Amino acid sequence: MIEFLSPFFPIGLEVLCVYIKKHGRDFEFPDYKPNYPRSPNFRLEHVRVELKLYIHEKRIEGRATLKLKSMKKNLTYINLDAVDMTIKKVMEGEKELDYSYDGSKLTIFLDRKLEADEELKITIDYEAKPKKGLYFVLPSKKYPNVIPQVWSQGETEDNRYWIPLYDYPNMKCTSELIVYAPKDFVVFANGRMVSTRESGEWKVWHWVMDKPHSTYLIALAAGQFDVEEEEVDGIKLVYAVPKGRRDYIKRSFSRTPDIIKFFSEYTGVPYPWDNYKQICVSEFIYGGMENTTITILMDYTLHDEKAHMDYESEPLVAHEAAHQWFGDLVTTKDWANIWLNESFATYMEALYTRHWKGEEEFIYEMIKNMDAYLREYSMRYSRPIVTRVFKYSSEVFDAHSYPKGALVLHTLKSIIGEDRFREVLKRFLNKFKFGNADTEDFRKVVEEVIGEDFEWFFDQYVYNAGHPKLTINYSYDAESKMLKISIKQTQGDDCWDVYRIPIEIRVKTKEGVVERMFWISEKEQTFYIPTEEKVESICVDPKFKVFAVLEIKHVLEQLIRELECDSVYCRILAARALSKHKSSKAIEALKKALMTDKFWGVSAESALALGKIGTEEALEALIEAESKVTHPKVRRAIAKALGEFREEKAAEILAKILENDEESYYVRSEAATSLGKTKWEKAQKYLTKALKVSSHNDVITRGALSGLAELGTDGAFEKIKEYTKPGKSTLVRATAIVALAKFPEKREAFDIIITASKDENFRIRYAAVMAAEEMMSPKLLPMLDRIASEDLDERLRRRAREVARKIRKHLEKGTEYKKLREEIEKIKEENRKLLDRLARMETKS
Ligand SMILES: [Zn+2]
Repeated sequence: MIEFLSPFFPIGLEVLCVYIKKHGRDFEFPDYKPNYPRSPNFRLEHVRVELKLYIHEKRIEGRATLKLKSMKKNLTYINLDAVDMTIKKVMEGEKELDYSYDGSKLTIFLDRKLEADEELKITIDYEAKPKKGLYFVLPSKKYPNVIPQVWSQGETEDNRYWIPLYDYPNMKCTSELIVYAPKDFVVFANGRMVSTRESGEWKVWHWVMDKPHSTYLIALAAGQFDVEEEEVDGIKLVYAVPKGRRDYIKRSFSRTPDIIKFFSEYTGVPYPWDNYKQICVSEFIYGGMENTTITILMDYTLHDEKAHMDYESEPLVAHEAAHQWFGDLVTTKDWANIWLNESFATYMEALYTRHWKGEEEFIYEMIKNMDAYLREYSMRYSRPIVTRVFKYSSEVFDAHSYPKGALVLHTLKSIIGEDRFREVLKRFLNKFKFGNADTEDFRKVVEEVIGEDFEWFFDQYVYNAGHPKLTINYSYDAESKMLKISIKQTQGDDCWDVYRIPIEIRVKTKEGVVERMFWISEKEQTFYIPTEEKVESICVDPKFKVFAVLEIKHVLEQLIRELECDSVYCRILAARALSKHKSSKAIEALKKALMTDKFWGVSAESALALGKIGTEEALEALIEAESKVTHPKVRRAIAKALGEFREEKAAEILAKILENDEESYYVRSEAATSLGKTKWEKAQKYLTKALKVSSHNDVITRGALSGLAELGTDGAFEKIKEYTKPGKSTLVRATAIVALAKFPEKREAFDIIITASKDENFRIRYAAVMAAEEMMSPKLLPMLDRIASEDLDERLRRRAREVARKIRKHLEKGTEYKKLREEIEKIKEENRKLLDRLARMETKS
């Protein structure tokens, strides 16, 4: 300890670090306020909903019976969440109760004072045409072949659009759904089905969820489905897909039993419910949603045999299944702590990859997680993983909550060891099962297991923004036979000042391998490793155990050696770093890795690096590899890399790939986009033809649309326009609308984008915002402002507001630049006048 103001204080000898709370940047807008968990005056015990689905009117009639308990003495009223409903009647038994309703809050006045813990059962009769929460997918003039479906999406706070209830995660209750549906419908909901019966024109489905869960997880899916069932460890597994697609079930879901078994075993907590249903629906607004026992998934995940070459449903299936433990059994207390649901599901998904495909695939998945987070960090904003300051609860569902949080859990696992990490998961799940938790609850479980305080870890990784960046220099001193390694923390100002992390370093010499682990805890540190021989390769964090961005100052020769090292992480970092070298040696090494590395991820990264190098020699390497490499994911990277060259040679190969029926859909799609980038004169002909090729989720058509956009010709514009029209599939339309952004000189492009921004389909409106972000045109500001203030989807509001802010900043910069130039002109003019005067004075004298 150093005494404050001591005259002997060694000023200047110590680097002082000021640990200031890091809120991050650009996430919060000025009007944002902190959000704290709600504390209601009652506790819901059971929700029973009887629901009639009037499909063609997109309307429901409901009766909700809520059983609740007073949480305080003298309770005289309760508040429920209920949006845009017509409330017909509120009853307690035979008594009608008074209520007031403002369109979003239903206040029910009791006719007596309730004691603490006293029970109350009320029934609400209501009607609604839900704008959110419950979605009706129906055929229409433009889409006559749509198979009717009704499905719900509660998270975050949308179940209140179709059920009057307490709609916030921090309370759990049992639930029951009695659904009146058309006779040709199958209805699924949470829990188990207790009965079906016919009643006039209806078929009535009765589902009961007899274990408590949060109300945002209440769900239903109804429609015409093909259904298959199986069993694992006594748990009934149900798969439902839109009618006519039965053959697709196996390809997407056959690993479900293994996934359920793996998570049960890994966490030490058996699957918590007695069945698990996965229902694929059309036009789903997310990838998947983990409602308790009934996960609803986008039907885009269903795919044919050819797509299966390089497309898999397992990541989605595993992610949602993991939520049955993390999210459903133990649920975040509020949205600020959503990483307890999402990071855990993301990390469990990666651990399943490791179990299924091995360590290399796992590491690559974690690298991709890091890429995804870093993209958000550099292009959009940074924030602490746990933050209370937001406007819409959906805003915290981002790359900080998913991949970054997964990387933090991964680092935690590396530091405390896998056995203890599993013990933490087990204790956490058992302690908070059927209840809620926040980050402090989780931290305390970690501390219980390891027997140490762990605040420092949560402070640096969870409660503050940013991430560590390590710049590493090293040199070998032959005389002292020492390898000197200097590590400097060079993260940005929006990050925690000094991180404390362990770093493993593996050094290979002729004599063998030396491994050392160092704890980094200062801004700059130097370490020494004695080695008898000169260093052949030096791997930093060879198993990618710690979440830190590494910048290792290798010279070219060293990088080339790293590209052949045992560690996948090192090889990938080397391939990426080599993209900045244009020498023949670098290209030769990358070509070798591309063609011979035993892990496809390294080959793919090498292909991308060659594309970035962009020289004639790099192109030759890619062309040669294209003729030999067969792995579809590597071929996809080659196709992407070839798009970096504006040369006929590259274009011809891309055209060949695009036309090849044997090739994977995704490779052809990538080739189409790249072909456009080459600007080859014949590209338009090929791309126009490719528009009509059928493929998984129209991925080839979409690739061709992006290619046409890159080409940028008038003819391309006309083609793209056709595909923006209603009648085309949602994904195709969305891609075409984004593609229009490449034509800022066309007035029509603006008109179409603005019309799309009012479309009823969320994905189409989202495409309009993405197009605006690409165009950065002030002409789209009114559109963005409108979306930001009134769009139904809050994710879209946020994104539109962000894009509008970006455009305005650009404009300001432009004006500042103009002002600066005017000032310079003025100074120049004054200077000229001064010189003039000087010259005249000189002449005079
Ligand atoms: Zn999730």
